[in-house]
Amino acid sequence: MDLDGVIRMRGRIGASWYATHDAKNPIILPKSHQITLLLVDSYHRRYHHANQETVVNELRQRFEISNLRTVIKQTARRCIKCRIAHAVPRTPPMAPLPEQRVTPFVKPFTFVGLDYFGPLTVKVGRSEVKRWVALFTCLTVRAVHLEVVHSLSSESCILAIRRFIARRGAPSEFFSDNGTNFVGANSQLQQEIVARNTELAITFTNTNTRWNFNPPGAPHMGGAWERLVRSVKNAIGTIIDAPRRPTDEVLETVLLDAEAMINSRPLTYIPLETADEESLTPNHFLLGSSSGAKQPRSEIKSDRVSLRGYWNLSQHLTDLIWKRWIKEYLPVITRRCRWFEEVRDVQEGDLVLIVGAEARNHYVRGRIEKVFPGRDGRIRQALVRTANGIYKRPVVKLALLDVASHGKPGPTSLEPPSAHQPLRVGGCCDAHQAPRPTRSP
Ligand SMILES: [Zn+2]
Repeated sequence: MDLDGVIRMRGRIGASWYATHDAKNPIILPKSHQITLLLVDSYHRRYHHANQETVVNELRQRFEISNLRTVIKQTARRCIKCRIAHAVPRTPPMAPLPEQRVTPFVKPFTFVGLDYFGPLTVKVGRSEVKRWVALFTCLTVRAVHLEVVHSLSSESCILAIRRFIARRGAPSEFFSDNGTNFVGANSQLQQEIVARNTELAITFTNTNTRWNFNPPGAPHMGGAWERLVRSVKNAIGTIIDAPRRPTDEVLETVLLDAEAMINSRPLTYIPLETADEESLTPNHFLLGSSSGAKQPRSEIKSDRVSLRGYWNLSQHLTDLIWKRWIKEYLPVITRRCRWFEEVRDVQEGDLVLIVGAEARNHYVRGRIEKVFPGRDGRIRQALVRTANGIYKRPVVKLALLDVASHGKPGPTSLEPPSAHQPLRVGGCCDAHQAPRPTRSP
């Protein structure tokens, strides 16, 4: 204890002439005392809420605090500025797959996802013109069908869908983006796409076919076909990057090659029982085998077998393929590969940041107006009121700001809070209490 009554540690570097008195004999502080917490908090702010190791080092120059790193972490966890800076969206566990992904014994392309990608540039005569690709995905067997579209207009899209229906049959349900999340699309283009989608929905919705939209800003909700867009782009990457522009004819051929390649990819990676057995592929449902080259095995050799007999046989073979699909493919997609942990659902009144493509400090802050529970009761979409208007967003784009916010009227003040949350005075056990702040009235 020194002359001022402060307990100091007798260090081992007393002989060092250049170390200060404080460094040689640091002041011993209890880790959970209010003074310690205020002190750590002050250093945390002095070093701009960053770099825990700097704070450790600076504090060690003068003080000896046990479990220092833990104390600093607790301080950062209580700090509102840090909490806002580090807020990330917490996603509820993956939803059960929609019915369309798990319905066996339907015709391929009964449930279809539609997406566009492009533009690709082709050469027509001496000029270069743009082409887009409409990608139709069967949500059940994951087969793709590609159509070249010459413009983004409704007419062009309707023609592409008619070509698709002519060759693959009419689907019972269409799913598509509602166009507002087309990357890089400007507002005029977005309006066109929205208008086009409305027209499509009117044209193709009838007693047999229904049109559905995904919410904007949620590409993962169309994960089934967004993933395939990437596969197609990889498959045709060589011609996209080629210095010489392809002609329309070349583009169409390459696209159909890509289609065949993707439709012959294995759906499962289950080791096969026999060597001559193939993995299940989308082409099994379209062509009967992975490449269509291998004829379906036929035990019936007699010429006298009628057409009906062959038809029954082909039905039987189709059933066999579907049985394999149930046995081999369904167990693969039942796994939840991410977003396992339980998180608190957002509620009305919560303060959130809307995570977008812009830099983190430009994220828009808002308050949840309304939540939309999914089929499993979890909240996956919400209406958010911001200073600029009301937005509908999936919760994966909403970072919950876990700060005391309930009960304040109106939209939130949008300035970043400059001060720390005040630490409560009195008692020495604050650090042992829950790190979350009490919700102030
Ligand atoms: Zn901080």
